[in-house]
Amino acid sequence: MDRGRLERGRQRVAAARSLVALTGAGVSAESGVPTFRGEEALWERFRPEELATPQAFRDDPVRVWRWYAWRRDRVARSAPNAAHRALARVAAAGRLTIVTQNVDGLHGLAADELDAEADRSRARPLELHGSLFRVRCTGCDRRRPHREPLRVEDASTLPRCRSCGALLRPDVVWFGEPLDASLLETAYEAAAAADLCLVVGTSAVVHPAAGIATVTVRAGGELLEVNPEATPLSAIATISLRAPAAEAVPALLVGS
Ligand code: NAD
Ligand code: ZN
Repeated sequence: MDRGRLERGRQRVAAARSLVALTGAGVSAESGVPTFRGEEALWERFRPEELATPQAFRDDPVRVWRWYAWRRDRVARSAPNAAHRALARVAAAGRLTIVTQNVDGLHGLAADELDAEADRSRARPLELHGSLFRVRCTGCDRRRPHREPLRVEDASTLPRCRSCGALLRPDVVWFGEPLDASLLETAYEAAAAADLCLVVGTSAVVHPAAGIATVTVRAGGELLEVNPEATPLSAIATISLRAPAAEAVPALLVGS
């Protein structure tokens, strides 16, 4: 990691009144959760684009639930890393809002791990794309947390709604579905109010989530990117740290 850039980044973080962090799959890579871009994105020959859609669920809910059971299993065996933990600590102190595209729940777990005196609710992220550990009813639209074991052998064992009996689906945003409008508005407000947006581990190609970073810039704030690779946002970032999140993020936030 470039020490000069890190130092300049640290100064900007320290000077910022209000911060927003936009995170993507890369922030969880060092926790052992694969991103959608590597080889591990493939599951039984299927690509996420073929499984994470309303049509795929209508056609074959067993297949889609089996994929989610597999992803849950992977995540259940992983833990927050130093990047999640550093972000949670600073967010609990009140100066930072965490906005994530991840569905793995690791930012939330990092918040749970904070000391009892910490403001854990402030450390919880806005989960723009939902969560692997929540379900939504395809009949009555009720949502609830869901961490119990999944049984996905066949259609008769899939989880069903306690109220109306209809099939439950993962409470995640699939390709072609809109994001929760009020959640998105809260995220945009935080981005517009922030003088610094930390963009961590996202390829910044999925909209409108990636637009959050540009909102900060248009409102006169700056962008600080942490990603081992260049992204479309690199061009408008004041500083790009080409380093893994678990190394760069705690180093940026130390003392904050
Ligand atoms: P992406 O897979 O498109 O991009 C990941 C980015 O992380 C890349 O730019 C890569 O260079 C970077 N990266 C890889 N290792 C890193 C590290 N150690 N530190 C920092 N950066 C690193 O992910 P995305 O931009 O989040 O978009 C993919 C979509 O897929 C999202 O909508 C998300 O909901 C979903 N998804 C979520 C998870 C999860 O919850 N963990 C995992 C895979 C995909
Ligand atoms: Zn229902």
